[in-house]
Amino acid sequence: MDSPDSGGNQDKKRLACPSGPCHEGGSVIGVMTEQGRLAYLPMPVVMDAAFVAGLQEAGYPERRYRFSRPCVESACSQWTGRGCAVVDHVLDEPSDGGCAGHRPPVEPGGSRPTCGIRRDCRWFAQRGSAACLICPTLVAEPAERPDTETRRTPARHTR
Ligand code: SF4
Repeated sequence: MDSPDSGGNQDKKRLACPSGPCHEGGSVIGVMTEQGRLAYLPMPVVMDAAFVAGLQEAGYPERRYRFSRPCVESACSQWTGRGCAVVDHVLDEPSDGGCAGHRPPVEPGGSRPTCGIRRDCRWFAQRGSAACLICPTLVAEPAERPDTETRRTPARHTR
């Protein structure tokens, strides 16, 4: 279901995953700061093989940057059949029990960040500005085998 403020675009074109793996052909969309919030690049920066290799060599690039790539929908383990489970999980799960660590603080009156992929973003198309308010605090934790299956745990947030 499209979010009311998403422009209703999620079924009309190939959307972009805002928290993908560090792969050649993907794009860097932000850099995680020491304060645990993502600093967004004004435009995505497409990565070549050498750039990816450098990030991989330094270790855990998904914890230090945020990457985007085309949403692969059913080829992703987070696909629900209608959308991305990561953003739904973070926004919808209660803040108790096992979900406590996944619910970032959304401060009333906060403004959404400026990012370079909003027009195509899967999370924005799915949940609108609510996704943008929690987006800067989320960090992907890739599994041992990053690939087209995108075996990642739901994004966690850092403080
Ligand atoms: S700030 Fe919003 S539009 Fe940009 S990547 Fe995050 S969820 Fe998507």
